Amino acid sequence: STVYLNGEYMPMHEAKISPMDRGFLFGDGIYEVVPCYSGGLVGFGPHMDRMNDGLKAIGIELAMSHEEWKAIALKLDGENDGENLGIYFHVSRGADTKRAHSFPSGVKPTVFAFAFEIPPAPVADKSKANSYSVSTSTDLRWKRCNIKSTALLGNVLHYQKGVDEGNQECILFDVDGFLTEGSSTNAYIVKDGVVITAPLSNALLPGITRFMLLDILRKDGRIKVEERAVSREEFDAADEVWLTSSSKEVGPVVAIDGKPVGNGEIGDVWVVAQQLFSEGKFNY
Ligand code: PLP
Repeated sequence: STVYLNGEYMPMHEAKISPMDRGFLFGDGIYEVVPCYSGGLVGFGPHMDRMNDGLKAIGIELAMSHEEWKAIALKLDGENDGENLGIYFHVSRGADTKRAHSFPSGVKPTVFAFAFEIPPAPVADKSKANSYSVSTSTDLRWKRCNIKSTALLGNVLHYQKGVDEGNQECILFDVDGFLTEGSSTNAYIVKDGVVITAPLSNALLPGITRFMLLDILRKDGRIKVEERAVSREEFDAADEVWLTSSSKEVGPVVAIDGKPVGNGEIGDVWVVAQQLFSEGKFNY
């Protein structure tokens, strides 16, 4: 496959970075994943805004415009096989000559992008949808989860707990028992027809799918949306539970720690939400 590295396109096996790269040594970088379905990018502007926010938050200076990023995305889409691709963007602080925690001066950020095949976009059809079973855990990550850092060990360990328990995600609760998010997704409950998700804070990633879904639901107006704290008790009593991420879109959860959500089947509110999301997702 063709990848982008520091201004050049090359086959993946020719892309080389230094072992002194701070992305490698410290996880010192920011990343994004943008879906691309038949050439159509989903949420490109918001994804790039979030990446710039992350770079600013960790003090990496990079002068790259949305247009430059988009040209990379479209070039990778054209050069790589597959109708549906995830475009991965990664900026690390760059390679130093020594290993020191302090930011090096005069080092250029490492900029890397590649494309990988993803399944066709989810459809709002209960008989065709992927449904998810999840584990739960106390959220043991750091306190700046709003930054989309490449340092994902905390997320990886939570996700793996889910996998080890035969599930596809792990939903996290803070020490006071309130929902934060999934290890790689944002999380929602539906109760009496109302969609409820944790408010944005440094405890969770401001998901682009979350942003688009809430915006789409509010503009449609049929389904009420609340951004507020969700207790573990409320979570366990939900009629429906959903996950969102760029690749899953709106993912229905049917089991939590081996117990069914509601009647254990995909819910009716999910169908409406995924349908609206499918219709609106290319408008961002
Ligand atoms: N939360 C975490 C921890 C994530 O890693 C992700 C994305 O991979 C999300 C939420 C969902 O974000 P988005 O909708 O922007 O893909």
